Amino acid sequence: MTTIAFIGLGHMGRPMAVNLARAGFTVRGFDLVPELCEAARAAGVPIAASAAAAAAEAEIVITMLPAGKHVLALYEGADGSGLLAAAAPGTLFLDCSTIAVDEARSAAQLAVAAGHRALDAPVSGGVVGAENGTLAFMVGGEATDFDAALHALEAMGGRIVHCGGAGLGQAAKVCNNMILGVTQIAVAEAFVLGERLGLSHQALFDVASNASGQCWALTTNCPVPGPVPTSPANNAYEPGFAGALMAKDLGLAEQMIALTGVDAQLGLLAQRRYAEYAAGEGAQRDFSGIINTIREDSAAQ
Ligand code: NAD
Repeated sequence: MTTIAFIGLGHMGRPMAVNLARAGFTVRGFDLVPELCEAARAAGVPIAASAAAAAAEAEIVITMLPAGKHVLALYEGADGSGLLAAAAPGTLFLDCSTIAVDEARSAAQLAVAAGHRALDAPVSGGVVGAENGTLAFMVGGEATDFDAALHALEAMGGRIVHCGGAGLGQAAKVCNNMILGVTQIAVAEAFVLGERLGLSHQALFDVASNASGQCWALTTNCPVPGPVPTSPANNAYEPGFAGALMAKDLGLAEQMIALTGVDAQLGLLAQRRYAEYAAGEGAQRDFSGIINTIREDSAAQ
């Protein structure tokens, strides 16, 4: 069975590595935090002495790290002593972290220049999706490398889309999450406006969820308690998808908008709103809790 190095055993990485081990892959995990290594080991993931040691014996190297700078630093290492140097020629590098499109392309170029293969494969579905093996993967890179990674991706995910060449998995992720940030704010504004006009939450939900206002931010992540009992609004806005992560993803959208010159005014507005939200306790609350900020910021009546 394929040997997989799994680097980054945090909220997402640990359950993903556990699912690979359960599916029969030979997994070698590593994280900088010893407690996380121990927790992964206890859950069935053998731990290597270092990230480089894990990569040296792997056919696939998966990284699930906080940001692009971590991925690039680990690939290159100080004085070229990183994972790219440690791995055997032709190793498939699969980065599942959410990073900028240009960073993903740089990572892929570095890997290819070092004689390896590379895919960007960011995910959506959160910790619950990681635990249940139902993540959605958006993959960028060569079709032959996608085919080679598919078996491993299927052990961790439910929906796997090859989006095109290097960086285009990250492009799909940033575009999707820009839609999500904008629509979650739009739905929240509509509920607060409805409140001011005397419209009940349930009545607005019943109309909009069956009309042209229908979207995930309304029908799954409804920002008011009641209409969708499983939405975070019914549980004091416990995430779900934390405001800090939405702010991070919209920060990446902002970078890509600046790079391309697109007139994405709503995307930039959502980025500013979520940066403010995540500067306070919204960082640890579900991103749908932005409705409370909108209510508080609305003029007193
Ligand atoms: P996390 O901070 O819990 O995990 C990242 C781990 O990487 C940490 O445990 C850290 O110690 C480890 N790490 C950092 N540098 C390392 C290095 N050089 N060597 C070994 N380990 C190193 O983050 P997370 O929530 O698991 O998210 C990981 C990625 O997935 C992020 O890019 C995030 O944006 C993305 N993501 C997260 C979610 C979510 O719901 N948490 C959903 C979708 C995508």
